[in-house]
Amino acid sequence: MNSTIEDINLNEISSHLEDEQKKDIFTKLNGVISKGEQRVTELKEHFSSIDIANSDPLDRAESSDDRERTLREIEREKKNISIARKIIAFSSKHGEYGYCLNNDCGVDIPYAKLSAYPLTLLCLDCKAREEAMQKYNPTATLASI
Ligand SMILES: [Zn+2]
Repeated sequence: MNSTIEDINLNEISSHLEDEQKKDIFTKLNGVISKGEQRVTELKEHFSSIDIANSDPLDRAESSDDRERTLREIEREKKNISIARKIIAFSSKHGEYGYCLNNDCGVDIPYAKLSAYPLTLLCLDCKAREEAMQKYNPTATLASI
């Protein structure tokens, strides 16, 4: 689903945040999506422009590194876009925003944290627990989105 800030009425999203603060963060989430999509387009263009048929082995190795780096960056951008979309869709569906998305927790996440890192899903305690879990299972997650 391609939810964006235009689709949702922020006044209907309950939160511990002020309306202006909600607006600030959702504008940033929208920026993650629009700038991310633009960046993915640029990276894909760059990727297809990398010359891998070069006759010089050193140049070929460099091209190969460049391709890998570019692919990793595309994956990172796509992941961030996906998280931003999920946050917007979740807020729209559940009518709330600004709380830890671990179902067992749900504490308020401070505005300063959300504003600095709009893709924040968990409070600090849950994030620390999730990172500890991920040492054993890299795909483990506590966030319910
Ligand atoms: Zn939590």
